[in-house]
Amino acid sequence: MKFGGTSVADCAAITRTIGIVNGKLQERPIVVVSALSKVTDLLYRISDQARLRDKEGAGELLGRLRTRHAELAEELIPDNPEILADALSRVNAICDRLEHFVDAVCALGELSDRSKAIIIGNGEYLSSNIICCAMNARGIRTRLMDSRKMIITDNNFLKGEPQTDEIIKRVREEVSAAYTGDMDAVITQGFVSATVEGEPTVLGRGGSDYTASLIGMSVDAKTIEIWTDVDGVKTADPRKVENTISLDRISFEEAAEMAHFGAKVLHPMTIEPAVKKNIPIYVLNSMNPSGKGTAILQSSFIDDGVKSVSSKSNILVINIFSTKMINVAGFLMHVFEIFSRNNVSVDLISTSEATISVTVDAGSQNIDKVVEELSSFAEVYVDSNKAQVSVIGKNLDNVNGILEKTFAPLKDHKIYMISQGASYVNISFVVDRAVMDDVVALLHRNIFG
Ligand code: ADP
Ligand code: ASP
Ligand code: MG
Repeated sequence: MKFGGTSVADCAAITRTIGIVNGKLQERPIVVVSALSKVTDLLYRISDQARLRDKEGAGELLGRLRTRHAELAEELIPDNPEILADALSRVNAICDRLEHFVDAVCALGELSDRSKAIIIGNGEYLSSNIICCAMNARGIRTRLMDSRKMIITDNNFLKGEPQTDEIIKRVREEVSAAYTGDMDAVITQGFVSATVEGEPTVLGRGGSDYTASLIGMSVDAKTIEIWTDVDGVKTADPRKVENTISLDRISFEEAAEMAHFGAKVLHPMTIEPAVKKNIPIYVLNSMNPSGKGTAILQSSFIDDGVKSVSSKSNILVINIFSTKMINVAGFLMHVFEIFSRNNVSVDLISTSEATISVTVDAGSQNIDKVVEELSSFAEVYVDSNKAQVSVIGKNLDNVNGILEKTFAPLKDHKIYMISQGASYVNISFVVDRAVMDDVVALLHRNIFG
């Protein structure tokens, strides 16, 4: 069971969350928690201040971090002084260690990815320690596990690549050591991970979902539950589009495409571990625990049809133009070999006689190197003012008039690239970033009414 930032935002939210876990104790839950809402953002800011050697600025934010967690512990554990003292000493120990570390970074004025991973992972340590104490104070015997002993990644410190075999082995060992007969539940941190040598890493923003599905896969869980602040996966982002509809069930493929193409409700990699073991994922609302939420299941249980419209604004379009490409076999291979060697993954591709256009995630590392290498034999133009819109559903080729429904309402908008995957799960296209939200709303209205 994974609880995101808003599900552990404050005393009321955590009390609700503990109530949800309490109702599932017979199923022997493994609880994964995010940092309190907005705390990871605060830690990013602290790491920036440290890099800028702004000791005072960092100190002020560190003070806020400590106070918020100490006050929360006091509010959550009002009538068990012993457990409260334990919770406060854990909060203070984590904050003291972090303060020393930030001081050292300020002194150096240099922030490596490794140091940043250490700083930004503290939110999950704070939340998991407090919630573990609060559960024990309510009579739910709970043991804390350290996810840095289980979730093993490569040494990409800010977006570690999980090492599946090692994770499966370690999660099983840690869970069976922690879940002794007298325990009702175990709890651990989302997002944070470590290399096999024990160097701290993290799984990337929103990575707690991924932690939960890696753990679910490792223990062959019956289900993976992602508890968040909306009634399951919806037909579009409810913060941007009116009248979105909650989806009862979608396939693993649909969910993976939605997450990959911009639906923030799930980290893009969440689905992969669950698919390996065919474990259903439920996306549920911790503010409305009796709601049905969304079941993410094997495709055979899912009807054909459009499920959602999503969008992604943090992309770059890379246009590669070369007259040499005309009638030259191997040109495409050469281009994509450069992307692959630099570990930049390409989302959409379209080609014409002398131009290849691709979209990539703007956060990808090594884009500069790719552009430099491509520029040695082609004209390359990087456009950072575009966005990607995707219509996602199962067997879209069987949906009557889907292309007309998608593109007819956009006759007044400029469309730059169109790509329909061979699997018919996704029709994606590129528009000006300035009109992205309007285009999504327009399409949503046209497709879902
Ligand atoms: P958590 O902190 O629980 O991980 P997130 O903020 O990461 O929560 O994800 C939940 C948010 O995802 C929702 O509040 C919603 O605004 C957003 N979201 C984007 N697209 C969708 C979608 N298709 N369905 C549901 N929520 C979506
Ligand atoms: N706390 C981390 C973040 O804000 C991970 C997560 O919430 O999933 O990105
Ligand atoms: Mg999230």
